[in-house]
Amino acid sequence: MNMMSRDFFHRDIQLFIDHRFDWDRYFSLRGGAADVAEEVETYRTILRTAGEVCEDIDGSARDHWHEEVRLEGAQVVVPPHIAAGYEKLRAAGLLCLTIGPAYGGYGLPALVNCAFIEMLSRADPSLMTIVGLQAGVAQDIEKYGSDELRRRYLPHFVSGELEGCMDLTEPQAGSDLGGILTRVTDENGRYFVDGGKIFITNGGAQVHLVLARDGATFEQSRGTTNGLSLVLCPVTLPDGRANGVRVSRVERKMGIHGSPTCVVEFEHAEAFLLGQRGGGFRAMLDLMNNARLGVSAQAIGIAEGAYRAAREYTAQRVQFGTPIIEQPLVKSMLTLMAINIQAARALLYRTCGLIDMTEALRRLLETDAVNGNRAALQAELEHNTQLIRFFTPLCKYY
Ligand SMILES: Cc1cc2nc3c(=O)[nH]c(=O)nc-3n(C[C@H](O)[C@H](O)[C@H](O)COP(=O)(O)OP(=O)(O)OC[C@H]3O[C@@H](n4cnc5c(N)ncnc54)[C@H](O)[C@@H]3O)c2cc1C
Repeated sequence: MNMMSRDFFHRDIQLFIDHRFDWDRYFSLRGGAADVAEEVETYRTILRTAGEVCEDIDGSARDHWHEEVRLEGAQVVVPPHIAAGYEKLRAAGLLCLTIGPAYGGYGLPALVNCAFIEMLSRADPSLMTIVGLQAGVAQDIEKYGSDELRRRYLPHFVSGELEGCMDLTEPQAGSDLGGILTRVTDENGRYFVDGGKIFITNGGAQVHLVLARDGATFEQSRGTTNGLSLVLCPVTLPDGRANGVRVSRVERKMGIHGSPTCVVEFEHAEAFLLGQRGGGFRAMLDLMNNARLGVSAQAIGIAEGAYRAAREYTAQRVQFGTPIIEQPLVKSMLTLMAINIQAARALLYRTCGLIDMTEALRRLLETDAVNGNRAALQAELEHNTQLIRFFTPLCKYY
């Protein structure tokens, strides 16, 4: 049995919710909440519940982390612990936490979502990739999709009926997405995708956000990130017909075995535009930045789990008549681990808090409700935006 100290929504995370974010200002920028203390207590309650669900997932998943994803025909089959963990999150209403109430979500701040993603990563890092992507894809649809697309897909993302993935990488286009050759063609106002993607996390999902090169400017834009469109490509079309999307392979990896990494083929697959035609790189960057912060939260969750395992083991392992945790060199290693985790968490949570405050500022500046201090708020928005650009890759790097 796993004896590791569980305590998922622990003091080090609570600190950032309780003391490191100016909730009064956040809610006042957003037009005021009935009762700020009550709102924040609701966030704590959600995170406490999430902590308990993660503890439950952790208890039943850890012994199965080595189990692989399988491809049966074109069907991606995840190991039982992934399916069971997903079901627990779905039953507790813990999917797509940032999506707004208009689509059935809680509209939670990025800071609160980040705490949840860290806890989930500690419980099951493979499951986190599926749930994290689902939330990121839903956020991109919420931001760039038409009203119709939002209404059609988002409630089903929140309820957990639909999962999502982002399809960018191709064999010749890894870091350099200017190499993308998957083509999206406009046929009398309808869009169709042809091409292939590799390394797609949760590629068996029902909704694919595909970065593809616009057929009309294909030759002129080749080798650049211009002329790329982001399109939503469902496996099943709105009228119930199967679309031309197929998983042809799943990779075997050194870790996160329960996270599907897939080769996906598109054959005249109908798709729906997200954002501007040819302006998909911008929309994709939002998705990527989200994924970068998710990867950072994942690493912190895994590190927290590893640290607790190390602390527990060293406390019970006796050599030279004392537990090795008392040996200065061992103590020093554990201290370094703890400091690194604290530092990484501080950077990530600060960045997420900035994202929330900046989003609240941006929304306020879009209204007429700013009296007198528009220039100062605009300057703050620009300053924060620079900081977020600077911190986001650092979070992933750390
Ligand atoms: C587990 C896993 C899940 C993934 N999930 C997804 C997904 O969901 N969707 C998706 O679209 N893709 C996904 N990817 C693909 C991932 O985004 C690519 O692996 C990544 O973009 C790097 O591309 P590459 O592997 O082709 O490496 P390359 O681009 O070939 O790079 C190889 C090495 O060279 C370095 N390098 C390249 N260019 C430079 C440069 N200019 N300066 C310095 N160093 C450089 C890189 O940092 C890297 O270390 C996933 C990959 C993995 C391993």
